[in-house]
Amino acid sequence: MNCPYCGYHDSKVIDSRSVNDGIRRRRQCLSCNSRFTTYERLQPASLFVIKKDERREEFNRNKLLTGIRKACEKRPLPTGTVDKLADEIEAELYRMGKAEIPSSVIGDMVMERLKSLDYIAYIRFASVYREFTDITALKQEIDTLVSDETEASRPTTQLPLLHAEKLGASAKARQRSRK
Ligand SMILES: [Zn+2]
Repeated sequence: MNCPYCGYHDSKVIDSRSVNDGIRRRRQCLSCNSRFTTYERLQPASLFVIKKDERREEFNRNKLLTGIRKACEKRPLPTGTVDKLADEIEAELYRMGKAEIPSSVIGDMVMERLKSLDYIAYIRFASVYREFTDITALKQEIDTLVSDETEASRPTTQLPLLHAEKLGASAKARQRSRK
């Protein structure tokens, strides 16, 4: 690991500690004395993704990240959410200990997490991944989400899909229609 400041090839470790799934090392450059941190992660055996057309492709974290990031674009999610999600999915994939995993499994994992995080991101991801062929299929999916939400079963971590006043209004409308 070359020094990120001066490029010197050698450094000494001044602190080393275990973090979740790896080791964090604080280093000091032997040339310019700058300090920097390296993370050492276990590199699992390579993992292949079986695509819809049966072709195999090596698992690519960046590709996963790009897909999630696109779905979450401009959504008011806390910084780091997308990376954390990709990390979790990657870790889970390797935990399965399989050499090959169908792309549909990964897609479902992303959808499941986005669904409990942000419906808009979920719908965006689903519309690409599930390839909603017509507006009816898309509307059905959205209707399901809206009815879940109005039934107050919305997880507290979920961003509201509708504004509170709109929800209140639709609840009142339902009450009226019951009378
Ligand atoms: Zn240096």
